[in-house]
Amino acid sequence: MNSGADQQKEAFQQALQKKYTACIFDIDGTLTVLGDKSIPADLQPRLADFSMSVPMAVCTARRLQSALDILVPVFGHAVNPLYCQANWMLICENGAIGYVFDPEKKSYVEIYRAKYPYPEAMRENLFGHLNFILKDRLGLSFKNVVSLVFRPPQEGVSSDDIQKHCREITKIIQQELIPYDPKGLLAVGDSGLGVSIFPANSNKEQGILEFAKCIAAKHGYKISPEAREIIAVGDQPGPLGNDEGFLKGIYGTSFTVGNTHPENLLPLPVFDNKGSILKGPEATLFLLGQLSFRDGLGFKKT
Ligand SMILES: [Mg+2]
Repeated sequence: MNSGADQQKEAFQQALQKKYTACIFDIDGTLTVLGDKSIPADLQPRLADFSMSVPMAVCTARRLQSALDILVPVFGHAVNPLYCQANWMLICENGAIGYVFDPEKKSYVEIYRAKYPYPEAMRENLFGHLNFILKDRLGLSFKNVVSLVFRPPQEGVSSDDIQKHCREITKIIQQELIPYDPKGLLAVGDSGLGVSIFPANSNKEQGILEFAKCIAAKHGYKISPEAREIIAVGDQPGPLGNDEGFLKGIYGTSFTVGNTHPENLLPLPVFDNKGSILKGPEATLFLLGQLSFRDGLGFKKT
């Protein structure tokens, strides 16, 4: 009987034989090295080239402007930056809000927004309470349009320590949330940089479906109910990681470029030509070079 890692390696090779329609990426740890503020120079033009023919999306804990800060340099690499930008959907706040680019307005417009399941006063109370409880552990906290975000200090702290502090904050928030969320309508997600609270029914996996809907409407492509034609790539698939549901394989064809879990077949790690597991944006870049897209889209494998 093959080990979990061997089965994943075999499944990875099989996944490369299929043809795909679109790509959706987490940002931090997937397009960037976790903790970095920009996409590596070799990945930026590759993403720009792809988005001239393949529908692309990000699905991130970041809010709109913060996602754009990372992506705008990519658009600048394209032959036609405006066309490139129009091909990127932005799913922000852990899936709670989606934006598409309006070429006439030359800006992103909101196309859906999840409802926070409790009144604003309760969201405010929860935010205040958690800031008090976590006061010695936080570097930054803020209210997004829907989600709440809590980050440990990051300046001069190693990536491993930031991730450790995020896990501790996640556990505390889970406990403190119980009286504030009697109906279990909120979810907690750890990106490895910060911890978000967001509506449980509007998460990153729902983001894949929203992207599928958008592709079908814009391009007329037929996407199956499980959206296997869409590649989903992230780095935090573990328990309480903010890619846990995103990469579980409910929707899309899922790959991890961060933590790996050989006890589950999915998400598939990215193996290089020697069979070693790649991580971070280096893995994302390699994966894009290995995939085939439907006729007329993207770059065929040679
Ligand atoms: Mg991430």
